[in-house]
Amino acid sequence: MTAIRDIAVAGAGPTGLAVALMLARQGRRVVVFERFDTAQPVGAGFMLQPTGLAVLDALGLTPAIQGLGQPIDHIFGRAAPSGRVVLDVRYSDLKRPRQALGVHRSAIFHVLHQACLEAGVQFELAREATAASLGRLSFADGSTSPAFDLVVDATGARSPIAAVLAQAQGSARRDLAYGALWTTTPWPVDPHFDERALQQVYRGAAKMVGVLPVGVRPGSPDRLATFFWSLKAQDHDVWVRQGLEAWKAEVRALWPETAALLETIGHTDDLVLARYGHHTLARPVADRLAVVGDAAHSTSPQLGQGVNMGLLDAHALCWALQTHADLDTALSAYAQDRRWHLRLYQALSLGFTPFYQADGRLLPWIRDHVLGKAARLPFAPRLLAATVSGLLLDPRRTGCAKSLRPA
Ligand SMILES: Cc1cc2nc3c(=O)[nH]c(=O)nc-3n(C[C@H](O)[C@H](O)[C@H](O)COP(=O)(O)OP(=O)(O)OC[C@H]3O[C@@H](n4cnc5c(N)ncnc54)[C@H](O)[C@@H]3O)c2cc1C
Repeated sequence: MTAIRDIAVAGAGPTGLAVALMLARQGRRVVVFERFDTAQPVGAGFMLQPTGLAVLDALGLTPAIQGLGQPIDHIFGRAAPSGRVVLDVRYSDLKRPRQALGVHRSAIFHVLHQACLEAGVQFELAREATAASLGRLSFADGSTSPAFDLVVDATGARSPIAAVLAQAQGSARRDLAYGALWTTTPWPVDPHFDERALQQVYRGAAKMVGVLPVGVRPGSPDRLATFFWSLKAQDHDVWVRQGLEAWKAEVRALWPETAALLETIGHTDDLVLARYGHHTLARPVADRLAVVGDAAHSTSPQLGQGVNMGLLDAHALCWALQTHADLDTALSAYAQDRRWHLRLYQALSLGFTPFYQADGRLLPWIRDHVLGKAARLPFAPRLLAATVSGLLLDPRRTGCAKSLRPA
């Protein structure tokens, strides 16, 4: 019997489910507390990068998720109206090429949730955690959990538990002006859309539209796309009042080939506004508490790393708990292990996002005329591919995550 035996995980998103699964497979008793009354995925599709896939490899879940997802070979961005290619990142340029995978959230949820049930993880639903103290969770209904050896906070970017830690550490979440409208649509039949690419079209940095193939939902043969439109959160009301047809005309003017796809969107409510924020906990651990995933660090999804970072956190935490019998030593090892990779990617996300989502003309001009040319330098394709793959300071080669090292 292990010393750190009973673990509470708050939040059944991809990070919480991955932590719960790994800890249950280590022979610990794991209870997941989720605020929803049915365990379910939230949001649209995303890209699993080679880093996130390495964690799923270690869990033996890659074949299951590949069966539902869509392999992605490259990320392709054009400026409108010129049509100039300003972003062309190919996963084949990696030193050891590995495709990314476009997946619908329900696919990763299904695969991780099933594996958790098989591993004996218990779920308590409709349990909205409000605080964690000395191994106990407090809930919105005023109740408190029994004491656990460890609480893992995986409640996402608006975690009330991490907010207390952030305040104590003197850091705060910063809301970003731009967010995006997201929806899931049928995969467009139009041959213009490359089924192996994330495609984006930009006008300056104030307008951006994107289409990502995300494979299928579990149990359905219908192929899907995630569609997104950049929007300032403060402009959402104006956008709703403006009406769907005026907006569709604007999108069609930017990217005419989206016309058929836009026909599948029938109401403004079909598009969900995601508000972006940026925060990084200086130290994602406290007494009998570990914070993982978006609860510990969230940012704009422009670099597409969030889920992958959460999976890496899960792996690092569980590896540290397996390696160190003493809880405080294990928590310090987890925090140390993820420190530099996380800081680098948080900084890159914060630095790159304004080139794609901002007012003004200077940054998009630099993106199109300077960065676009720099991307053609001999070393650049591999560097760009490594950057979007999450492989700078390769987390598969350092610290506890050495076990993820590719063959
Ligand atoms: C529009 C958009 C596009 C994105 N695209 C990408 C992409 O392409 N690639 C990528 O890697 N990442 C992407 N991300 C980021 C990614 O979605 C997040 O990084 C990821 O979902 C974080 O996972 P998580 O499990 O840490 O948190 P979440 O996914 O937020 O899950 C948190 C879970 O906790 C539950 N919960 C919340 N509060 C409580 C509470 N108080 N008590 C109990 N339960 C609670 C929630 O219901 C949820 O189940 C995108 C994000 C957005 C918003």
